[in-house]
Amino acid sequence: MTLSPPSLEVLPRDLSSYRQGNTGIPYVHRFDSGRPGPHVLVNALTHGNEICGMVAATHLLDQGIRPLTGVLTVSFANVQAYESFDPAEPFKSRQLVHNLNRVWSPGELDGAQDSPELRRARALRPVVAAADHILDIHSTAQDVVPFWVYPAFERNAAAALAIGRPAVHLVMPRGLGSGTPLVQHGRHGERGSDAGAALVVECGQHFLQATADLATAVTLDFLAHFGLIVPKPGRPAPGPQRRFELLETHLIKSPEFHFSRPVQGFEVFAKGELVATNGDEEIRAPVDGCTIFMPAREPVVGKEAVYLTRPMD
Ligand SMILES: [Zn+2]
Repeated sequence: MTLSPPSLEVLPRDLSSYRQGNTGIPYVHRFDSGRPGPHVLVNALTHGNEICGMVAATHLLDQGIRPLTGVLTVSFANVQAYESFDPAEPFKSRQLVHNLNRVWSPGELDGAQDSPELRRARALRPVVAAADHILDIHSTAQDVVPFWVYPAFERNAAAALAIGRPAVHLVMPRGLGSGTPLVQHGRHGERGSDAGAALVVECGQHFLQATADLATAVTLDFLAHFGLIVPKPGRPAPGPQRRFELLETHLIKSPEFHFSRPVQGFEVFAKGELVATNGDEEIRAPVDGCTIFMPAREPVVGKEAVYLTRPMD
């Protein structure tokens, strides 16, 4: 695994002036156009070190962007983890205790466990539940092409394909396999519900300026797609898109976990080929053309090791 330090082009900034908000929930801002239309939630910092979302959300607030129709809510999720950022260990501020993007089931939210992330998820629960359409902004440890991640519902695919940027889609027919992500909370996790689209966008490597720029662009695209703002003129029509279906999620079982070769994501394995060794288990490609997403940078037991996918189209 490569552990070379990343270049830190974009650093966290002080968010204390965004704490107050106007909803009674810290770091949640809501703007009602007073006209009929969808309620869109733009959520940043589900993972504390994924600062591109902070750049996009502060752009909306600093520029005074207001919805022409419907309601716009802008939230900063895990500010507590974000504030623990240390440039010497820039990956560490992803979370304090729990992964805030795996706790959105009733079992976790109504359960007896406690942590900064569970407290924050419980506070944000009505914010997420109230939204028709959700954009949850993330970034990746490795410098790979940006991609969407969403449950395999038509309402999600339609929005992501129409927006068309990024051009790569990771589609989850059976969820993530490692907990319930924010975009699957409540009716957004149900097939055939009246929910709108709920998408994760992975905008590129955490600390790159290009990642922050894409997060802002996709956020504006998302708001324009649902009619909250006027689309920017001159935006090119979406080009060809590539979709991948999630087949398997593996969790790290052993500190000796290792990949069979250096990987950063999007490597392709033939059926039966060894992808990684996970304790006494061999992770082998279940199909030809098996493409890996989000390989772990470090073997932390209990965390996601790798996602195995296959091309859909
Ligand atoms: Zn993330």
